[in-house]
Amino acid sequence: MTAGTVPHVVIVGGGIAGLAAAFFLRDQPVTVTVLEGSPRLGGKLSSSQVAGVPVDEGAEALLARRPEGVGLITATGLGGDLVPAGTTSSAIWTRGAMRSLPRRQFMGVPADLDELAATGVVSAEGVLRARREPRLAPGPADVSVAAYVGGRLGAEVVDRLVDPLLGGVYAGRSEELSFEATLAPLAAATGRYPTLTEAAASLVPPSPPAPAPSGGPSGGDNSKKQAPVFVTLRTGLGALPEIVAKAGQAQVRTGAMVRELARTQAGWRLTVGSAADPEYLRADAVIIAVPAAPAARLLSRTVPAASSALAQIRYASMAIITLAFRAEDFPRQRRSGYLVPAVDGRAVKAVTFSTVKWPHLASHAPVHIVRCSVGRVGEAALLQREDEDLAALAAAELAQAAGAAGAAGAAGAAGLTKAPIAYRVTRWGAALPQYNVGHLDRVARIREAVAGQPGLAVAGAAYDGVGIPACVATAKAAADSVLRHLGAGATDRPEYRT
Ligand SMILES: Cc1cc2nc3c(=O)[nH]c(=O)nc-3n(C[C@H](O)[C@H](O)[C@H](O)COP(=O)(O)OP(=O)(O)OC[C@H]3O[C@@H](n4cnc5c(N)ncnc54)[C@H](O)[C@@H]3O)c2cc1C
Repeated sequence: MTAGTVPHVVIVGGGIAGLAAAFFLRDQPVTVTVLEGSPRLGGKLSSSQVAGVPVDEGAEALLARRPEGVGLITATGLGGDLVPAGTTSSAIWTRGAMRSLPRRQFMGVPADLDELAATGVVSAEGVLRARREPRLAPGPADVSVAAYVGGRLGAEVVDRLVDPLLGGVYAGRSEELSFEATLAPLAAATGRYPTLTEAAASLVPPSPPAPAPSGGPSGGDNSKKQAPVFVTLRTGLGALPEIVAKAGQAQVRTGAMVRELARTQAGWRLTVGSAADPEYLRADAVIIAVPAAPAARLLSRTVPAASSALAQIRYASMAIITLAFRAEDFPRQRRSGYLVPAVDGRAVKAVTFSTVKWPHLASHAPVHIVRCSVGRVGEAALLQREDEDLAALAAAELAQAAGAAGAAGAAGAAGLTKAPIAYRVTRWGAALPQYNVGHLDRVARIREAVAGQPGLAVAGAAYDGVGIPACVATAKAAADSVLRHLGAGATDRPEYRT
């Protein structure tokens, strides 16, 4: 850094992590450039219209129990546009019927075996097996979810409950995902409780008291009084990147693919654009906020130890198939959606009734929007099918599910006989990092190697959590780290304290 000049921070990647990092650097004595390789900002956040309704193509729900996502939105002045989910009640389509997802579970690990038995998600034998949980010492937690949870509660709990929840968040499989990395609070609690069920119970709210008789002072829906678990933006989470970019005061460039990162005597040099016509940018500090594979490529020469650990982080691809039905053609729903365990052999792994989960969407058009998610890790062949085929497959499975739900009395008994009036297929290649066994060790190695490079930081979904709040947290840490290096103060404003 030349004495007297304003330090230049370059952020590689214009997804939510990169843009949030730029936002956290606003009003600091630095100039900030965000370089996004694709033609649009936002990465996994994007929305577009289906049958006249603006619907998210990627992330759609923000966990409000963590402060970072809501805090970022509030800090941009958009807190008033946050809307809570209309319902969080969900189901699992398994063992031939639509069954309620137990309320008292932590990422599928049951906290109440009586409730689990009542839902029928697991067979009577499966519940018996879970009740016979061996009182094992906590043991090494960096084993697969299937090994840890299955060893305690039996394979059926894993297959029918835990695996579908992990499939929804990571598009991953419980045989490979690390118990410690994906269920960190539960892994931490296991040392304090004799059984996994009790450890899970320590992390979820107690059973709600039985409602007072109708008309009584505390009758009605208790959930309405609780803080919402999930929120979204009235305009969709796809609107968030542009909002954060505008509030961040950085120079934001799209179509600016970073090809190389090199150390110079004064700081860093980035090679941007095509090999035939490269542009060179100087930086005093760099934040790499891209997925693991491009991060590994960028760091291969300067930080090989980080690069090799990054290269070991696998990604799952997936697709979101959004279907629009005429409102009158679709059976009435009271749940936000359902999950389908891989062992049930269906293509669609998760369904969200978007216009039920987000009631404000229903005001746009008299349609019912259904979001179907396909693609667990290793299901690449499915994703190679044509858009039309995928939409037809999703609609067919939805019709079967409506029949199953109708039979169980969970939704309108009429079933679903009409075809969608519109559809959209969004493909997300290398969408979600797999926090497989060894992930925490890999991340520790990456962080250690990066910390050895003054003025370099990493952020994004590859590290400490794939959800937006976790990505924002890594962005804040990265912004703080480069400011410390530049001696420019800290981003610690009251709105981000947790
Ligand atoms: C279908 C789907 C649904 C999801 N649903 C939810 C949800 O409901 N709630 C939730 O909290 N999370 C959800 N997630 C997860 C969450 O959206 C992501 O983990 C998060 O948005 C990742 O943000 P990021 O900034 O780390 O990475 P990305 O969004 O991947 O952004 C990285 C950016 O870097 C750019 N880039 C890559 N290489 C280069 C380069 N060399 N030079 C310049 N730019 C480069 C990319 O083009 C991209 O724009 C979902 C994810 C998917 C795929």
